[in-house]
Amino acid sequence: MPKRYPERCIVHSVPFARVALAIPVRELFDYRVPEALAASVVPGARVRVPFGRGVRIGYCVERDAECRHPQPKDIAAVLDDEPLLDGALLRFVQWTADYYLASVGEVIESAIPKSIREAAPKDVPWVRLSAAAASDSPPRASAAGARILRHLRERGAPAPLADVLDACAATRAPLRTLARRGAVEIYRAPQAPPPPTLAPPTLAPPLPPRAAHASIVAPLAAPPFALNADQERAIAEIRAAIAAPRYETFLLFGVTGSGKTEVYLQCIETALARGRSALVLLPEIALTPQTVARFRERFGAVAVLHSLLPAGERSREYARLRAGEVRVAVGARSALFAPLRDLGVIVVDESHDASYKQESTPRYHGRDLATVRAMQLGIPCILGSATPAMESLANARRGAFTLLMLPARATAHSLPSIEVIDRRREETGRGPQPGLLSPRLAECLRETVRDGGQAILLLNRRGFARHIHCDSCGFVLRCPECDISLTYHKRAGHVLCHYCGHAAPFPAACPECGANAIRRAHAGTERIEEVLARLLPDTPIGRLDRDTATSRDRLEEILRQFRAGATRVLVGTQMVAKGHDIPEVTLVGVIDADISLHLPDFRAAERTAQLLCQVAGRAGRGARAGRVLVQTRTPEHYAIEAARRQDMEYLFEREAATRQLLCYPPFGHLVRVLCEDGREERAERSARQARDAVRSVPELKILGPVPAPLGRLRGRYRVHMLLKGRERAPLHHAAGIIADGKPADSTTRVTVDIDPQNLM
Ligand code: ADP
Ligand code: ZN
Repeated sequence: MPKRYPERCIVHSVPFARVALAIPVRELFDYRVPEALAASVVPGARVRVPFGRGVRIGYCVERDAECRHPQPKDIAAVLDDEPLLDGALLRFVQWTADYYLASVGEVIESAIPKSIREAAPKDVPWVRLSAAAASDSPPRASAAGARILRHLRERGAPAPLADVLDACAATRAPLRTLARRGAVEIYRAPQAPPPPTLAPPTLAPPLPPRAAHASIVAPLAAPPFALNADQERAIAEIRAAIAAPRYETFLLFGVTGSGKTEVYLQCIETALARGRSALVLLPEIALTPQTVARFRERFGAVAVLHSLLPAGERSREYARLRAGEVRVAVGARSALFAPLRDLGVIVVDESHDASYKQESTPRYHGRDLATVRAMQLGIPCILGSATPAMESLANARRGAFTLLMLPARATAHSLPSIEVIDRRREETGRGPQPGLLSPRLAECLRETVRDGGQAILLLNRRGFARHIHCDSCGFVLRCPECDISLTYHKRAGHVLCHYCGHAAPFPAACPECGANAIRRAHAGTERIEEVLARLLPDTPIGRLDRDTATSRDRLEEILRQFRAGATRVLVGTQMVAKGHDIPEVTLVGVIDADISLHLPDFRAAERTAQLLCQVAGRAGRGARAGRVLVQTRTPEHYAIEAARRQDMEYLFEREAATRQLLCYPPFGHLVRVLCEDGREERAERSARQARDAVRSVPELKILGPVPAPLGRLRGRYRVHMLLKGRERAPLHHAAGIIADGKPADSTTRVTVDIDPQNLM
């Protein structure tokens, strides 16, 4: 029987409703609730409303006795029998909209998949009693009609039309008559949720099967090994918060392979044993089939939620979660808005990962919102990472988060040793050597392959060569639409813009001076693959980047081949650094650690250290010890040193002074305002106007406006400015003024990004 919301009785006599619409206007719209809909326009329900000259679908946020509109229009229809969002979720959505300066409607439409929001073609007709028929004297009806009314009243809930006709041995005619008289309503909705399904096949070797919900009733299952003392301590602390239950954010800071996942699993078991559910967020979930498999092994039925899921499957997962049939959900950032019942704990794995930030409206940070959702629900949140963001470390230092350390690997081997190779003076003593691989890295690769080990090579640049220039006149081949040099892709035989996808043939001669002197520099993954083929002629090599992993299947295939040992060396972009646990990998090589170090972004050092630590963590996870070789031309840089020590606290110490001085996070807060326009002067004018609008806000520092580092993208000029403040309040106030203002030119697109991660 569907749950009734208390709002339903309270709101009956309240004549108006505030409705959120998915338009970029941060206000709610007031409508009158017609008598017939008085009981069904509840907070969280979808409604159809007149707007402008047309109609729109909106979301009722609250009912109110007062109306701010002098002549409110009527709500035309209610689309849901049960509200799409429950009270807690609605509150969370409102918080998100307020904080990230989006409209409530925009947040709802971004948070809840289209297939759930909109009647899917597979919807079937349902029948319910109208408010009047449900309450008092039975309306006039034929014998069949009376049977239908009695059935619905006894059932006390809507039912699929086909079931009603079946149960009452009736035809459609009497039902239609009832509908015409207003005794019942016929509407379309998804089919009833299917019966519980068995867990889909897992990707990892099977463990002894367990019933889907065994953990809810059975005593806690023992892990396949004894927990170590650090794990025990962490689990005990988190368990206490789950049992209370109370809000608390734990920063689970454990080196790569320290057994963080086991901590998550045990804590989730505790929540399940108490009849609660659990939500696990993973970054770029497509990259981590292995992690998903571990959750399935332990818990059986696990809902997996991400944007690549076919619409039908997603609707099914939502229905199972809503019904409480499945109590563990694993998903990408948007899973924060999934309708889990009785949530008991939230886990954010690899919580430092940049992909938790959504780079379109609403520009929320999944990690930060996870703590907000936990706080609103009064439950614990676990942020796990081997390389926590400086913001998280700072929160732990000032006591906002509880720090839990796992300082050692859980398996036999300690962390791999890291050797830094200075490409400026190599050990040959003959100065810099040409080529992508230093003699030392080349030798180690040969040795590893000879000894039956596997190797991972990181080069964070795809394609064959990134810089195509003319040796004669210095001309550099650039994208006509973007302010970026083009990358040569050898196999595809063309040059490509990595931002907009513009492709052109590789020029035979310089388009500028006509000289036959076109050169290529800045090698990418495709080039490394070729170099390796020469170095290790009989060794199968795999490549993992966006050019090879064109689909989820392709990606899993590349990883599967490497895991099975069919390929011995895997080269790739940062995709090779993500969470993979492949025991035979004994060597990790970083071709060029400096690529990300010199980007015009205050987080460049932090991100470089994180990437290096993460990729280093792929080595020596099995029985054999691992080693890591990092090639660089700036070995003295503290980011490289932090990676060598595998120590993000060291990075924090080295970086803190500068960030403190410049008021950058975590010692201050940032808002980025980006103005984009096809005409440069218009983008500039809009940016200047935005600056002038907030100039008088106190305690605010304004940097810019200046051209963004990526000055032109897809044909639009980009001008940005940064707002900085020690306190959030004035900053947020200023950001709101800009977000609600009109740009100087109507063609300018103005983006206000709270806590930006991307400054390019
Ligand atoms: P992390 O998530 O911190 O990178 P994992 O949870 O993947 O680490 O653990 C790394 C490996 O260690 C896994 O194969 C896991 O099964 C194993 N492991 C975890 N805890 C223990 C333990 N207490 N004793 C032995 N092995 C463990
Ligand atoms: Zn381009």
